[in-house]
Amino acid sequence: MQSAWLGTGPKVARFEEEFKSYKHTAHAVAVNSCTAALHLSILVAGLKPGDEVITTPLTFCATVNAIIHAGGTPVLADVDPDTMNIDPAEVEKKINHRTKAIIPVHFAGRPCNMNALCRIARENELVLIEDCAHAIEAEYHGKKIGTFGDLSCFSFYVTKNLVTGEGGMILTNEKEYADRLKILALHGMSSDAWSRFSDEGYKHYMVTEPGFKYNMMDLQAAIGIHQLKRIESYWKRRKEIWNLYNRAFNELPITLPAQADADTRHAYHLYPVLIDEKQTGISRDAFLSAMNDRNIGTGVHYLSIPEHPYYQKTFGWIPEDYPHAMKIGRKTVSLPLSAKLSDKDIEDVIVAARKIVLK
Ligand SMILES: *Cc1c(COP(=O)(O)O)cnc(C)c1O
Repeated sequence: MQSAWLGTGPKVARFEEEFKSYKHTAHAVAVNSCTAALHLSILVAGLKPGDEVITTPLTFCATVNAIIHAGGTPVLADVDPDTMNIDPAEVEKKINHRTKAIIPVHFAGRPCNMNALCRIARENELVLIEDCAHAIEAEYHGKKIGTFGDLSCFSFYVTKNLVTGEGGMILTNEKEYADRLKILALHGMSSDAWSRFSDEGYKHYMVTEPGFKYNMMDLQAAIGIHQLKRIESYWKRRKEIWNLYNRAFNELPITLPAQADADTRHAYHLYPVLIDEKQTGISRDAFLSAMNDRNIGTGVHYLSIPEHPYYQKTFGWIPEDYPHAMKIGRKTVSLPLSAKLSDKDIEDVIVAARKIVLK
């Protein structure tokens, strides 16, 4: 605040530097949301009208909307029922001559099967864009998540593992992508405001294409720089909570989230349990209300994408065609999982869930 430069400037540059060295990639471009990051990444992938982009039906709507806004046609490939991540075999079934890109989402912070997805992308010459909104701390076979794709997108929204209020980041190893992303993120102008107002005197900007207003502010980056320092300690705390839940709910007639695969690191962004009325004796929605009555906030990640009227109307999608995502979406509840939860908070969640299920 005292520097009096609140817009895009040196703090954003520093946050980009620190984020890319945390992730070991060549380039980082900060933007004002992961939705913006996805939109620009799909644009630089160079879709032609009618080109298809494959993604998962178990994601936040922004993943699919970004494909639509970038001029692509979204195509869904169902998830694996246990890992809840996009199933590479389903992806392969959806590939045709119009397919241009794949956007896997590392759901709940659990890494997707990157060996299979990288192979599929390579063999079919597809652009691989990772949606890492849940997965900042995740690793797969010793490599950080977000370094497998041609481009990868991160969210710093208020509910995510690293928070700047609103904010996002794109990582890439391709200089050409990074240069175009920077231009597209700020009106299509050839150089940003900070460098124009430098001590070297006034420089004209040139508009090279109609861009967007997607730049991150120094005010946001200043928060992000300090959040990044705490990322490991927050992750450890969420892992601890995850394990406490696993132990406490082991005996309950609910389905617990799958354990992390060997040689991977889970980011522990969400703790999704499945409430199956036949098995649990209570419907998912009744469970949500009962938790709410006990003053415990829960979430639903997510009703599958084909449940929403816009996509049904526009693409003719029906939930039953993606049965695993549909079943998860209708049974899932995300329990509170934040590094800021106290031991007492966790105990409250455990007691409430046990009482509701065992009543
Ligand atoms: C939160 C989220 C987004 C969108 O992030 P914003 O920063 O809010 O735009 C995209 N994809 C997934 C999977 C998300 O969870």
